[in-house]
Amino acid sequence: GDNLVFLTQPLHKGRREKAKAIAIVCGGTSLDFATFTDRVARLATVLKQFGMASGDRVGMLSLNSHRFVEYFFGTWWGGGVINPVNIRWNPKEVAYSLDDCDTRILLVDDLFVPMVPALRQLSASLRTVVYCGDGAVPEGMVGYEALLAKAEPAEDAPHGTDELAAIMYTGGTTGQPKGVMLTHGSLCINALSTVAALPRDAQNAVSLVAAPMFHVAGCGASIQNLLRLMPMHVLPMFDELAVLQAVQSARITEMFMVPTMIKRVIEHPRFAEFDLSSLRLLFYGAAPIDAALLDQAMRAIPKAAFAQVYGMTELSPVVAALSPHCHQPGPDRDRLLRSAGTPVPIAEIRIVDGEDREVPPGQVGEIVARGPMVMKGYWNKPRETEAALRGGWMHTGDGGYMDDQGFVFVVDRMKDMIVSGGENVYSAEVENAIAQMPQVLMSAVIGVPDDKWGERVHAVIVRREGMALEAEAVIAHCREHIAGYKCPRSVEFRDALPLSAAGKLQKFQLREPFWAGRERRVG
Ligand code: ATP
Ligand code: MG
Repeated sequence: GDNLVFLTQPLHKGRREKAKAIAIVCGGTSLDFATFTDRVARLATVLKQFGMASGDRVGMLSLNSHRFVEYFFGTWWGGGVINPVNIRWNPKEVAYSLDDCDTRILLVDDLFVPMVPALRQLSASLRTVVYCGDGAVPEGMVGYEALLAKAEPAEDAPHGTDELAAIMYTGGTTGQPKGVMLTHGSLCINALSTVAALPRDAQNAVSLVAAPMFHVAGCGASIQNLLRLMPMHVLPMFDELAVLQAVQSARITEMFMVPTMIKRVIEHPRFAEFDLSSLRLLFYGAAPIDAALLDQAMRAIPKAAFAQVYGMTELSPVVAALSPHCHQPGPDRDRLLRSAGTPVPIAEIRIVDGEDREVPPGQVGEIVARGPMVMKGYWNKPRETEAALRGGWMHTGDGGYMDDQGFVFVVDRMKDMIVSGGENVYSAEVENAIAQMPQVLMSAVIGVPDDKWGERVHAVIVRREGMALEAEAVIAHCREHIAGYKCPRSVEFRDALPLSAAGKLQKFQLREPFWAGRERRVG
């Protein structure tokens, strides 16, 4: 073979060097490296028994668990490609993805058993449904634990660097998720590069995975933890109280959260009851964080260093990271804290204009990236692939700028920028200003049609419980903090905002009713 890369390689090392050390803990289950590797090797046999050949996709529809990590590594061990589906999808969307990828084997946990009859009806490719729970095996399915117990461990399948490992779906923040083709090389090299960008001791480190594993954030975190041969604790899904309890009881030292999760954790009414002193490193990213929240989080968990990461599914996923050093007091601190950091070691980042010409430092353009972490393309979407990868660079769709030291600043998704009277307004900047008001729990700033200005700045706000706030006060506050043309012209209050399964604000859902039947120009 040529340039062999094994995503499963750390398991061989773990089994050899740390056989009895804890690899994964979930609920009441705890697996050491020897046991985990053995289960992975048996799962590979099971999948092959049900017809998985090299390069075949294996579907998974499940909350996070120790088994989810086995699904990943068992599929790779047997030479297959993982196809985790979004747990928010309805049966039609799941069936569409299974058929689109010609996925014949589906792994489901207890929560998704009720969806199986509909999937059987809707999907043409689905053959075998594996029940991955501890209860009785439902009719028409085969049982994971019983099969694993009977199977002989398989030999690990060698993989070329360029071989497909995953079809991972984007977050669905801006619309229909796209299937992204990632390879053994892209995932492996990116995990190593991310670890290298934010060096930390694997000795005595314990990580907590609360981000969904069907999403690249949870999948990538699992790969990194196994690479470093350190224990990880897995939560079935994000829950603020469960996070607090896990950090305290398992003495968690590091974890990743998106900003909405951080907010829910630090604002939990019982936050002060928990001992979080073990937390040394908190990664945040996947969506913009407002300065007020970051400050509040750093004060709430003073012992932890905070490290921002920036990336996307299409980049396996991390492409830039802000080292916690930048949080140290200094003249540049406040400015740097707003940065997504510098490119990870193997990544190249540029800022380009609409004609793909590089723009000077400080000027806003589209963030593009190049390197071995870039996806192979979107699954079955050749036109979208060509557009995204034109000129050999991944076009992120994010607007940003780079300073003269190479720090990258993400200003807004290009789809979320508002063009009002010919001026660019970055929704994230307006939200950042609104977030300083103590009465505001959450806000989303969107562009709505305006006959005179093309688009008008509109704010949708969730007030904190029991607090009063009027539209006029929001506008007056913004006038004090940002330029007049950036201030909301209209404000509405709601009880909640639409969040994706990964915890990101789905502004397209808020925009839709305003734009019904109208074309909105983007970028
Ligand atoms: P979809 O592509 O389906 O609309 P998505 O873009 O949210 O969903 P992901 O691949 O999960 O799917 O997320 C990547 C995006 O998340 C980036 O393009 C960027 O807009 C945003 N993002 C990631 N990290 C950061 C960060 N540190 N700061 C601001 N935004 C970030
Ligand atoms: Mg995207």
